[in-house]
Amino acid sequence: TYVVTENCIACKYTDCVEVCPVDCFYEGENCLVIHPDECIDCGVCEPECPADAIRPDTEPEMEKWVEINRKYAEMW
Ligand code: SF4
Repeated sequence: TYVVTENCIACKYTDCVEVCPVDCFYEGENCLVIHPDECIDCGVCEPECPADAIRPDTEPEMEKWVEINRKYAEMW
């Protein structure tokens, strides 16, 4: 699954939301988040992000962001 990370904070672009085929982006506290159970891992959003905020959860030190994405996505 993909996760939204730090660079999304204060980003005003929503290019990622527009390209996601399953609409799994949600509004978090101060950034967007991806619902980890809804993301189909297609990777389409990653190159669309102008802030380079979307990363695969397989990268190192993603645990904190995985938790944040899940927490805020599950509030909807
Ligand atoms: Fe949506 Fe695909 Fe990005 Fe997952 S990887 S959030 S399914 S566009």
